[in-house]
Amino acid sequence: MSHPEATGSFNNAGPTSEVFDVVVIGAGIVGAAIARELAGYALSIAVLEARDDVGDGTSKANTAILHTGFDAKPGTLESRLVRDGCALLTEYAEQTGIPVERTGALLVAWNSEELDVLPGLREKARANGYEHCELVDAAEVYRQVPALGDGALGGLTVPDESITCTWTTNLALATDAVGRGVRLLLNHRVEKVSVGADTTTLYTSAGDVRARWVINAAGLGADVLDRLFGHDRFTVTPRRGELLVYDKLARPLVDKIVLPVPTARGKGVLISPTIYGNVMLGPTAEDLTDRTDTGTSEQGFDFLLTKGRRLMPRLLEEEVSATYAGLRAAIDHSDYLIAADPTQRYLLVGGIRSTGLSAGMAIGEYVRDVIAEAGLGLTPRTELPDPPRMPNLGEAFPRPYQQPERIAADPAYGQVVCFCERVTAGEIRDAFQSPVPPAGLEGLRRRTRVMNGRCQGFFCGAEVSDLLTTRGGTAATHCSIEATK
Ligand SMILES: Cc1cc2nc3c(=O)[nH]c(=O)nc-3n(C[C@H](O)[C@H](O)[C@H](O)COP(=O)(O)OP(=O)(O)OC[C@H]3O[C@@H](n4cnc5c(N)ncnc54)[C@H](O)[C@@H]3O)c2cc1C
Repeated sequence: MSHPEATGSFNNAGPTSEVFDVVVIGAGIVGAAIARELAGYALSIAVLEARDDVGDGTSKANTAILHTGFDAKPGTLESRLVRDGCALLTEYAEQTGIPVERTGALLVAWNSEELDVLPGLREKARANGYEHCELVDAAEVYRQVPALGDGALGGLTVPDESITCTWTTNLALATDAVGRGVRLLLNHRVEKVSVGADTTTLYTSAGDVRARWVINAAGLGADVLDRLFGHDRFTVTPRRGELLVYDKLARPLVDKIVLPVPTARGKGVLISPTIYGNVMLGPTAEDLTDRTDTGTSEQGFDFLLTKGRRLMPRLLEEEVSATYAGLRAAIDHSDYLIAADPTQRYLLVGGIRSTGLSAGMAIGEYVRDVIAEAGLGLTPRTELPDPPRMPNLGEAFPRPYQQPERIAADPAYGQVVCFCERVTAGEIRDAFQSPVPPAGLEGLRRRTRVMNGRCQGFFCGAEVSDLLTTRGGTAATHCSIEATK
């Protein structure tokens, strides 16, 4: 086993002759969390990601709720890992500055059948180790969320449900992994696999990579990769969730997550504040065949507007400032599918459908235990770098443009580039100088909120593009953007 002393690197430069102890395929939240966890041990590790950035798959487009796991199926692996992951991410968020707001949630019953379900849901929460749910009557429901539409009959409170930033979470885990020595190989799509006696060769779009152990955390692509290892045990069905994002002026309407009574199809359509100060309505749940179809649809909008009109008619009077869709990796099993094949030195992490943001860090720890049991020796590293301190994207916490002392020390933090989201030239510069820099505009949006506001880049788009191109800031070459003086 090798003992990497060198610091990790963001490496987009192509094949490497090194045989890694572990290669993780996929740099979403789950792959990044696994890599970070294993990098706490004396192992050489690489993450192979097909795309040009981390967190560009399902992990970039979800509802960003840090679930307690109150409504998971008791006794499942998912229930355990969501509960544990929620605690781990809550603590990690404090260390790294990932914004989290403990808004709490209110699950609302709109008819007598749903009302009858609520006590059972409270029992389910208890069976999941969550004791804080309380049944409330209609008057209390309207006291807590006065803008709700007519007809609510009662509710169940879930005081510890929180909202967070999925982008910062993924980036923090990836940055931490790189800081702990992990090689991040972007634009490396694994296309073929050859399992040898001691090493596995992964044939990628950017050359061959060899590893002793391979971990498949490829989300929507996990079943395809699993078949490359000769298995035929599950199929991923992309389940699209479309969402509407309402302007910040809507935020006073709702200060907590308003949930429907869940059904067998999923958690249903919710209304929630976002960590960026908006309100969202969604998601839909529609099974597709195309694993790349993250477009939004007219039917999706109509469906959400019909739901929204019932749930909170006043919300529909506000402006929609953005729409988006994400694809859950639903599988034909009722639980997470995490299994090691010691003979192939291969571990599958599949079916992390609608809870992977919350469970990710606990999945990392679980994978560590499974892989150790399957034969990978783990020697804890004696010295680990501190976790990274991430730029704050949360509206409820101080941002650079609000901090006179930071602006005095570095005037770039006083130079606002994106006026809707109040993003400064200093933050854009920092993003390009960070250990895992963006590869383009989309990555920059996720790292800074730039162009994500009301005008969607209409006013700042040209300046941001200019910063991206003419000032030489491309992630692949590690160029930095000097803030405009
Ligand atoms: C609408 C919606 C709402 C959701 N809401 C929540 C929520 O509120 N709370 C919560 O906890 N969870 C939520 N989720 C679930 C959560 O987003 C996912 O469980 C999580 O993002 C999954 O992360 P991942 O790393 O497994 O997958 P991904 O983020 O998709 O990462 C997998 C990566 O693997 C890469 N890859 C695939 N194939 C290959 C290959 N052959 N070679 C190299 N790389 C490859 C992909 O490019 C991708 O980057 C929601 C999901 C959706 C869609």
